Parts: sequence; C-alpha cells; structure tokens
Amino acid sequence: MHVIIDGQRVPVSPEMTILEAAEQVGIHIPRLCVHESLTPQALCRLCVVEWEGARTLVPACVARVQDRAVIHTQSERVRRARRTILELLASTVDLSEAPELLAYAEEVGADLERFSDGERLTFPVYDDNPFYVRDYNKCVLCGRCVQACGDDMQFTYALTISGRGFHSRVDTFYHLPMPQTTCVFCGNCVAVCPTGALKAKEELLLEEGLSPEAIWQRKREEKRAWYKER
Ligand code: SF4
Repeated sequence: MHVIIDGQRVPVSPEMTILEAAEQVGIHIPRLCVHESLTPQALCRLCVVEWEGARTLVPACVARVQDRAVIHTQSERVRRARRTILELLASTVDLSEAPELLAYAEEVGADLERFSDGERLTFPVYDDNPFYVRDYNKCVLCGRCVQACGDDMQFTYALTISGRGFHSRVDTFYHLPMPQTTCVFCGNCVAVCPTGALKAKEELLLEEGLSPEAIWQRKREEKRAWYKER
C-alpha cells in the first residue's frame, strides 16, 4: 500500500493519517490545533491538502490514507486556503507571540493586515492566580488547552468553550475565577498553547524586566499568601 505525496511514493499502512504519512518522508504540513500529545480535532483547517479526485480540500490530521491516493500539500489551492485562514485569524486576535503561525504566514505570503478594519476581540487579561495569566486577545480557539485540561491529559475539566460564532471563547464554567474552578494548576494548558494566550507568571515577569531573583522572591510571597487564603 502506498500514496503519492508531492510526487514522492510513500509506503503507508491503512491506519495512518496523511499528516503521519507525509512526516515519514520529511514533508511538514502546517498545523495549528493538532499537537502530538492531543487527539486531532480538525478544527483549524490549516493542515488541509489537495487529494486528487476529492471535491474539497481534506484535513491531513484526521484523513486516513487510501492506497494510491495522490496528494498535494503545497498546491496553489492549498496555499490560498492557508493564507486566508491565517489572514482571518490575524483580523481578530494578536498573533505577535505565535511564532509558528507567523512563519506559516510568511511561507504562504499571507497579508496579516488584509482584514485589519474588521472587529477585533477584546478581553481583559485574567490574572487571578500566582501561576499563570490568560490573555484571550491572543487566543485562536485552537482548543488545545481545553483538550489538555480534559480527556487528553489532566481529566480536570476546568476549561470549556463558551459563546457562539464570533463571540466563542475559552472560558471557565460559569466564568468563575480560576481558583474557584477544578483547576489544579498543572500547567498542561500553558504548555500546549501555541500563541502566548496562556503564559506562566515567571515568563511574564521576565518579559516585564524583573530579575530572576526578584521574580523568585515575588512568587514566593504570592504563593505563600495564596495558600494561606485557601
Ligand atoms: S488559550 Fe491557547 S491553547 Fe487555548 S484555545 Fe486559545 S490559543 Fe488554543
């Protein structure tokens, strides 16, 4: 059994996805919502590829290979789709701390200012615990943090997606402050976030110019106070 990806013959087994098959021969397909530790959800559509004979582009993270399928990962149609997805994401949120997305944008020639006159999402920065901050102005709704908090890693279910359409957002249940949720501050959500929307306090304080010693001191005091309250 084999497929042809970008002209290369790739031996595959039936359970493989196109993404996995491509990786076998060193072809990197851009992706956003998919992560090696999480179940692919085909949410972001950045990994779409062209499958000869298929009516639509297919998401490589979930589409299984079929014998002799001919797949293009860099056709003009694919690149146009990726370009538009990235331009639309940039129209509502701040991608400045999402290096992978910025690199993909450069690769496909996306104009991140294309829809700059559209409505942007605005949220307060949630700083309600000593461990991490949440800045959903940078959130692309990839869902990785929700998956990591739930069935894919921690089984804690402190996070969910609330709202509809443009107003969809990552949230806690009943919009509670994080310390009042089931969150155990494991840090898995921060580790999988690709955009800097979730950030460890230490990282934020370093960016603000504090020395490691000052951060250590401040964190120690914050944590002491926090544990005393609880
Ligand atoms: S906070 Fe980060 S991981 Fe969670 S949905 Fe937004 S971008 Fe994805």
